Amino acid sequence: MPLADPTPGGYFGDFGGLFVPETLVPACLELEQAFRSAWADKAFRRDLDSLLTDYAGRPSPLTSCERLSRELGVAVMLKREDLNHTGSHKINNVLGQALLAKRMGKTRLVAETGAGQHGVATATAAALMGLECVVYMGEIDMHRQELNVFRMRLLGSEVRSATTGSRTLKDAINEAMRDWVASVESTHYCLGSVMGPHPYPWMVRTLHEVIGREAREQCAARLNGDGCDGLPDVVAACVGGGSNAIGIFSGFAGTRTELVGVEPAGGAALNRGAPGVVHGSKSFLLQDEWGQVREAESISAGLDYPGVGPEHSALASAGLARYEVVTDEQVIDAFVLLSKTEGIIPALEPAHALAWVVRDRDLLAGKTVLVNLSGRGDKDVGQMIELLR
Ligand SMILES: *Cc1c(COP(=O)(O)O)cnc(C)c1O
Repeated sequence: MPLADPTPGGYFGDFGGLFVPETLVPACLELEQAFRSAWADKAFRRDLDSLLTDYAGRPSPLTSCERLSRELGVAVMLKREDLNHTGSHKINNVLGQALLAKRMGKTRLVAETGAGQHGVATATAAALMGLECVVYMGEIDMHRQELNVFRMRLLGSEVRSATTGSRTLKDAINEAMRDWVASVESTHYCLGSVMGPHPYPWMVRTLHEVIGREAREQCAARLNGDGCDGLPDVVAACVGGGSNAIGIFSGFAGTRTELVGVEPAGGAALNRGAPGVVHGSKSFLLQDEWGQVREAESISAGLDYPGVGPEHSALASAGLARYEVVTDEQVIDAFVLLSKTEGIIPALEPAHALAWVVRDRDLLAGKTVLVNLSGRGDKDVGQMIELLR
């Protein structure tokens, strides 16, 4: 049984929906219609598949980690989204949305970015397709991620600083939505994760399902020995908004494989939040005692989001997936361990998923665990120089 689709109102169980200003309701409905029709159109799917293959480098490999597995007593395999163009899974979503924007006759993209990874991916797709592009980024993040600001500008995009509130990701999302309200005729809002108002959580999931489809086939081919059913015992992925996790989960939903999402201690919306509405949908959310959104804070800027995609809230509530929390120290150790044992420097985000495997290795002894390696660590080595001195 694949993951369930949302209700016509955009609900996964009790979560999701369409909580936007009235002016944006028609835009969201138009987007849903446009995506449904594009997804049913063979020519659109063929164009997207060609981009994913010839531009982004899909399919991404599946790597069995011999030395790491021996060290942990757990058979670890990695889905190598780090090897995609621009260095993470984000390109899957962005190429799909940019192609859709063109089909809708839009000439301009707006996007939000925290660490800059989604901004760089969007700027990349805009350059490829000749679209104008404005990326909103919190003022503080612009200072923390100077190199990505430069990359986006080099790719021909404009980067605008969000100077309100905490001047980080959640403020950048507010600014991008404000821009979209005022420019919806010409502009598509290229949202970066499985969050926001309907149809985004469902559309972004659909665009990342390629990760799960490939992984399922690769596992079937790899795990086909005596008495083996071709499935890993566990699939683990880090959860910020939750797009790389839902992408790989989609390939294994309804099977015996256990689905595990891993949250950072400072941004554990599912483990330490409560239901609330932010950025267009209802989901678990970090909030203070008065219901105000609380800032997330983790070692990994890509996971610094106080909310989580509504479908993860629904999966958690229904017991269909499990969500664990790891600390920054555990993440640093996992980052070093994978580098030393396998010659792969991971991004700090997927190092969260690895950190959980390392921490719970006794419980996982003898099992096969597939980890979604959502991105590469090049962007994080500067930060690590400071921390590992
Ligand atoms: C952005 C990012 C994430 C977090 O986003 P999700 O929507 O939770 O996947 C995770 N890993 C990498 C490498 C990222 O760039």
